[in-house]
Order: sequence, then C-alpha cells, then structure tokens
Amino acid sequence: MKKIAFFTIGCKLNFSETSIISKSFNKKKYKIVDFKDYADIYVINTCAVTHKAEKDLKYKVKYILKKNNNAFIIALGCYSQIEKNKLYKIKGINLVLGNDKKFNIIDYIEKKKNIYSCELFTLPNEYKDAYSIEKNRTRSFLKIQDGCNYKCSYCTIPLARGLSRSNSIKNIIKNIYNILNKGIKEIVLTGVNIGDYKYKNKDFLCLIKEIEKIKKLKRIRISSIEPNLLKDNIIKFISKSKKFLNHFHIPLQSGSDYILKKMRRRYLTKLYLNKINKIKSIIPDACIGSDVIVGFPGENNKYFMETYNLIKSIKLSYLHVFSFSPRKNTKAFKMKNKIDNNIIKYRSKILRKISNLKTRLFYKSFLGTKRKVLFENKKNDWIYGYTDNYIKVKIKGSKKNINKIINVMLEKIENENNKNIIIGKILK
Ligand code: SF4
Repeated sequence: MKKIAFFTIGCKLNFSETSIISKSFNKKKYKIVDFKDYADIYVINTCAVTHKAEKDLKYKVKYILKKNNNAFIIALGCYSQIEKNKLYKIKGINLVLGNDKKFNIIDYIEKKKNIYSCELFTLPNEYKDAYSIEKNRTRSFLKIQDGCNYKCSYCTIPLARGLSRSNSIKNIIKNIYNILNKGIKEIVLTGVNIGDYKYKNKDFLCLIKEIEKIKKLKRIRISSIEPNLLKDNIIKFISKSKKFLNHFHIPLQSGSDYILKKMRRRYLTKLYLNKINKIKSIIPDACIGSDVIVGFPGENNKYFMETYNLIKSIKLSYLHVFSFSPRKNTKAFKMKNKIDNNIIKYRSKILRKISNLKTRLFYKSFLGTKRKVLFENKKNDWIYGYTDNYIKVKIKGSKKNINKIINVMLEKIENENNKNIIIGKILK
C-alpha cells in the first residue's frame, strides 16, 4: 500500500480543498500519513499570494527530499496554475497540476502521466465542493464560493482561480449536515470573495438566512469579507443570529485613499470606517480583524502614516500584516516607486506592534466576564480554544473537554510565544 502525505500553504479555502482531495484517495490502495512522516507520494497545495508562499514551497520540497529522495512530489493549486514553468524547474517536483486539474489527481498518479499543467489561459470555471475535516474534528472550513471578478492591482488570485462562482444553497446545507454528522461543532464559511456569493438569484444574505434555520448547528463564522460587500443588512442579521458568531475579518489593505485607488480596491477609508462603527454600535463585543499590505508602490511616509493613524484610531482586534510582493501579470508589478525592503520591514514591525496592543486591549476588556469556549486541542496540562468572539483561551483541563462548548470565566492575560492568550476557569 502506498503512503501519501499532504501539506497546505495559504488560505482556509486551500485547507478545505486539500481535505477533500485527500479523501478522494481509496483507503484500500493508499495510506494517508502525516506530512512529517515518510511517504511515497507527497502532495503540496500551493499558494500564489506572496513571495513567502513561494519560498515555503521550495522549503517543503527540500524537506521531503531529505526524508525520501525518491518521493513522488506533486505541486498543485494556485501557484501551479500561474507559474508552471517555474515549478518544472524546482528539483524534486514530479507533477504539476493547476486549479482546474487538481481534483483529478488520482487519474494523473495512477495513469502515470508525465509532468502536466493546465495552460494559463484555461482558467478553472467549474465549481467543486470542499470542506475540511481536521484531525481533532472541532472546526471545519466550508467552501461556498470560488474565484473573483475584482481586479485589485496587486492580486493574482483571479488569474489562478478564475471568475467568481458559487455553490447552491442546497449543496451548502447538505455539506453542513455532513460536517455536523461527523461531530464537528464549528463551521467557517470560506471562499475567495464570499461576499460576492451568488447562486441564481440568491445572494450572501439569502444564504446565511437559510443556514440560520439549521437546528443542529451551534457555531458558524464567516471568514474574510470585502468591506463594500458587507452590507448593513448582513451586519444586522448577524447581530441577531443565534449561530453566526460575532467575529468579522474585513480587509483594509491601506488606510490611504490614494493607495486604495492605486490598489483598485472598491471602497475608500470612509466606507471602511462606517462598517467598523456600524458593527461596534450594534455588536459591541464583536472581534474585528483586518489585513494590511505594507509597502505598496508609491506608499511614501505620508501615505503610510495615514494607514498608521487610521488603524490606531479604529476598533480593530487584530491585524494580519503582509509585505507587498510584486506578482507577475498584475498591474502593480510594473508600477514605479517601489518601496525599499528595509522600509517595508520597519513599517511591518510597527503595525505588528499595534496589532499586538490592540489584541491585548480587546482581551483586557473581557477579563472578569464569562464566555462560551470551544476547546480544540491539548498541550501539556492545558487545553486551548476560542470564545465565540475569537479570544484565545487556555484552561487547565483534560482531553475529555476537547470539542465541547464550555462556559469559562476569563481571568488573566498572558503572553505565550509572543501571542496574547487568556487564562480561564471552567464555570460549574
Ligand atoms: S477581492 Fe481583490 S484581493 Fe481579493 S481575491 Fe479578488 S482581486 Fe484578489
């Protein structure tokens, strides 16, 4: 029996797709092993968003070859779709599959086809269902949408994943039942641009209203959603929902209107601020996270300070800070006034510091309160989980509390591996 291992680089959507691809392998013929173990075949689901994702891929290939020099290595997904010529040249990679062929991986392995990649211009246009089942079976990433019709000037995703398309509400509900039947307690709706969900005449609000009706479902989060697509009626619905958790992730990318226009984002800072204020006015305990890109071409000190000041002034709970990296075939690739790497590093450091402070302040405001926590894993004597509003919590506890939603008193903030965490106590 052949041993096969999987590794995912990138977003929640990639995780859900790796999971579904791994499940398509016949258990009588293949044994799925951990990525750190010896395997005959290794599958890496790649990402095209930043240079770091590219570096990660090369690093993983080297890591595999040290383990098994004869391993059959497959690179699939977004980076394979747009950079197949580069991937051919990476020593050790045997098979390259783009996004439109990755779900047929078994055919390619079993028919021993040579190195293959779909052409750049055959953009994927089919919709494939996917959801992830993690080892500890507490949370699942459920794909509801794929592709993107936007043309942000720095982004390769539309080139890698094609135009926006969505799953039917019926299929999404069916998948939710499948996930819940496996004992999973929390679901995260994912996609490339989930606010753009559209199936026939149904939009994102119609979808979440249908999901709300599922009695068995207890906790559901929406992942990243574009600010211009997070309509006030969605915020209002979530504020009243008994299942959708009070956690939003709304990319900002820049706090400068000049840079936002150059990025070809579909909003300006005024709209962004309105969204944050709207959420906080009707869901005061909501956790709001954001993404920021540092060092976009032309981001001089003035524009960076606009981002800095905006972030400082708004009620965000955490930030994901990305360094701008020029991606081929995007408008930003050819833009002038590129920012020096050392300046990018310095500015990123500043924003990460603010992020840490904002998380601490957010956590601090909940000390002495009780929240429901879904515990996910155990390390030494501690079990770890997240509150409904995405506060990371640990308590002294045993494995029997994993995958349970428990009332916890939040008592003290700690710093663990440079990250904030709250120590709590189970309420009897
Ligand atoms: S919204 Fe913009 S950044 Fe997001 S996937 Fe679409 S093009 Fe890329």
